[in-house]
Amino acid sequence: MHLIVAEKNISAQRIAGILAGKEKVRVARDGGISSYHFDEKAVVGLRGHVVEVDFVKGYSNWRSEERPPRSLIDADMVKIPTERKIVNLIQKLAKKSDQVTIATDFDAEGELIAKEAYELIHAVNRKVNIDRARFSAITPEEITNAFARPTGIDFDLAAAGETRQVIDLMWGASLTRFISLAARRGGGNILSVGRVQSPTLAMIVDREKDIEAFVPEKYWQLSLETEKDTEIIEARHTTSRFTSQKEALTARDNTKEPLVVTEVKEGSKVDRAPTPFDTTAFIVAVARLGFPAARAMRLAEDLYMNGYISYPRTDNTVYPPSLNLSGLLQSLKKSEFREDVEWVMANRRKVPTRGKKSSTDHPPIHPASAASRQELGEERWKIYELVVRRFLATLSPDARWLTMKVNFDAGGEPYTATGGRLTEPGWRRVYPYSKVTEYMLPGMKAGERLPLNDVTLEEKETQPPPRYSQSKLIQKMEELGLGTKSTRHEVIQKLISRKYVEGTPLRPTLVGRSVIDSLENHADTITRPIMTQTLESHMQQIREKERGSDDVVTESREMLHTIFDQLEQHEQEIGAEIMEQTAEELTLGPCPVCGHDLRIRHMRGQTQFIGCTSYPDCGFNISLPMTAWGFAVRVGNVCEIHNLHHVRLVKKGARPWDLGCPLCHHIASNRETLKLIPSLSEAMMSRLIERHIYTVYELAHTPTEEISSVLGITPESARKLVDEAEDVLDLLRRRSDCRKFVRKYLPPRRGRSPASVIRKMHEVGINDVTDLSHTDEKILKTMGVGEKEASILLSEARKLSAERELREIGIPAVSLKKYQKAGIIGPSDFLDNPYVYISAISGVSPDTVYRHVEMVAKALNRPAGPKYSRTRVEKGNAGLLAIRGVGEAIVVRLSQAGIIEPSQLAESDPEKIARLSGIPAEKVREYQRTYRENENSTR
Ligand SMILES: [Zn+2]
Ligand SMILES: [Zn+2]
Repeated sequence: MHLIVAEKNISAQRIAGILAGKEKVRVARDGGISSYHFDEKAVVGLRGHVVEVDFVKGYSNWRSEERPPRSLIDADMVKIPTERKIVNLIQKLAKKSDQVTIATDFDAEGELIAKEAYELIHAVNRKVNIDRARFSAITPEEITNAFARPTGIDFDLAAAGETRQVIDLMWGASLTRFISLAARRGGGNILSVGRVQSPTLAMIVDREKDIEAFVPEKYWQLSLETEKDTEIIEARHTTSRFTSQKEALTARDNTKEPLVVTEVKEGSKVDRAPTPFDTTAFIVAVARLGFPAARAMRLAEDLYMNGYISYPRTDNTVYPPSLNLSGLLQSLKKSEFREDVEWVMANRRKVPTRGKKSSTDHPPIHPASAASRQELGEERWKIYELVVRRFLATLSPDARWLTMKVNFDAGGEPYTATGGRLTEPGWRRVYPYSKVTEYMLPGMKAGERLPLNDVTLEEKETQPPPRYSQSKLIQKMEELGLGTKSTRHEVIQKLISRKYVEGTPLRPTLVGRSVIDSLENHADTITRPIMTQTLESHMQQIREKERGSDDVVTESREMLHTIFDQLEQHEQEIGAEIMEQTAEELTLGPCPVCGHDLRIRHMRGQTQFIGCTSYPDCGFNISLPMTAWGFAVRVGNVCEIHNLHHVRLVKKGARPWDLGCPLCHHIASNRETLKLIPSLSEAMMSRLIERHIYTVYELAHTPTEEISSVLGITPESARKLVDEAEDVLDLLRRRSDCRKFVRKYLPPRRGRSPASVIRKMHEVGINDVTDLSHTDEKILKTMGVGEKEASILLSEARKLSAERELREIGIPAVSLKKYQKAGIIGPSDFLDNPYVYISAISGVSPDTVYRHVEMVAKALNRPAGPKYSRTRVEKGNAGLLAIRGVGEAIVVRLSQAGIIEPSQLAESDPEKIARLSGIPAEKVREYQRTYRENENSTR
């Protein structure tokens, strides 16, 4: 069999379709993974990388004493499958194969993925022949060619990629741990540091500092207005910026009639057609259409997978000679670009335009086949159209402009005006994305005099450098050699998701800034691009076999150890700096009670709340939902009443939850519960809120004298209010307990949420589990609870409330479990059954059971029943067993009827024993007879 491994499932499917030609492709599913079969061939798609490098076991504890962050530098690494099912399927098929072709994407990343597949296959089949197909577009022509002329895997290229993975993990993990621990951060709140990420963040931070440090300077611009043949002409002073106001005013005052044309220069200008798209140029162009980089790349990859455009990750800006440009034009004629294509074919430039970078891997991004708007949908079409038009533009002639420059003199002051007209639109005809502004000047001759209509002096200010847009940043990263064409947009995305940067254009957050500041102070190598550039040159050396991977990793390790030497010395300072700087981003505004700052606090586990910074002097706090609902962060808006920043709960993959002003939210949500206090009027409530008593809890814990003075009521009324508040607190506690219970046993269902059931329960007075245990099933049904659900809910409620009652009485948990297992559930079960029987079925010793029975009897104010000595129980037991036909099971059943010894058996009414024990009366009589006979014979 011939196994073909593609980069993704969708490419596998398309490759199979192309190679099968007219033959039918059979789809097989194995563990949820599809494979495509035809003609002794099987095609399987990976999911990009199906293995990842990770540290060997034992390094997962961040706070380990023996394994501090530095230990990660020298920790061994292993490859772990991340897509088990795919790995299994490939290995299963590989065992049956005599030929394997790896058809992953054609770039460094794809080569590494190819090598990973190679290793997985080699591990199960050493003899199989493995080759590699390389193509830049998933089109019939490219695919057939690639499979007709397979090559080998470029192991040097893959090794470079592998080395990069190892180094990235080593740097990222050790530094992230170190910085996070130093700043006492953990959980979902870590501070990540990375080889490419940190220098990129540093650029954004540095730009922000430039903007802040920028001091605007004033300058003046002078212009005049004239006209010729009723056409208005604007001319500017040849000193484009006056830095001195005095000079500008003098020049203005000198500007007088006559206005004389001194020179007219006509010329022409060539407007070059744009060069082919590499990834960066593509991202810049697509940003103008409003697509963020990461989204644009995702859509472009989708177009590639479906055969519409060539591979979008490329550094190449020169079409290779092998690319059939005429063929492509022909195929695009079958699209709505037909007219433009025909124009390009008729006017095609001799040689297509070319950019500066030429590499041997992929061609520049170009269309691969014709598509229609309907097939692609709005968004993908916009991107496809851009790629098509760019391609057409690169084959179109240059545009030409007619230019005109006119110089003037007015009272000795020189002015100039320029104009231009597009005479040959060339490529601009097919590529309408960059605006052309034609500005025509009327014909003029030297020596001509014109009227001076107006002179304008404008005062302006110099502007700070702009913040980076995503596409500008990607360009800059490329210039500095940060990241690769495949990773740059992902790095920016990471910075955003880690809350290091925000907004469009990008600006750093306080956390982002504090991390960079601290690194710059103590280990600035991490924030400078030079380190990454060095690494890139090492990667190149590996690719060209000049250096080995181990050698490069060792050098990188040494570099990182040097950095740790610096960092560890300053751990305390680094932590303090970051904590101090980032505290601000959690500070919300003044505490309503004492005026100090309120701050969001994230505790271990899931807890978060808003507390006062002067705690313990001030105990004011506002509780927040658990972090499972979202991580609390400060937002820009400020409450006009309370002067507090609004709070938002953010959760990955969910819409953020805006709480608004935390105090307004606090007041509103507590108002409902305050209303439960019967003698608290609306007016009293408002008075309390004014005096910062917001919750029932706070009211219940306020001294009565204070309440009586705040509300102007008698101490007795205040006492009553506090008592009522305590009752409400108790009610709230019981309700919350009951809510948890209901949520546990009542699965959410369409049209009936646990919350709605709970609300209805409150309405009918079911406030706790005990209330619930006494409720009729029919009442639950009216709340939308199903029959089966209701019976489960009630039996569990009875169990729980009985258990609580028994715990209250003092029955220890260990015994309680044994009783419950034996079916002794509620307190009355202890008194309705003989204790010897309870002991027999639960395995708890008779004396212990009796002690528990006494406790229950006392609590319920009922008699405990007779107690027997241990020897009497044991002797009785033996005596009963001695009767013919009586075994252990019968002894237990007899004990249920209160019979613990033969004499009791002999004296009791057989019918009654039968009723209580379930032993047929006939049998009981037989035991009685046997016993009496025995007694008589021994006498
Ligand atoms: Zn306070
Ligand atoms: Zn407020």
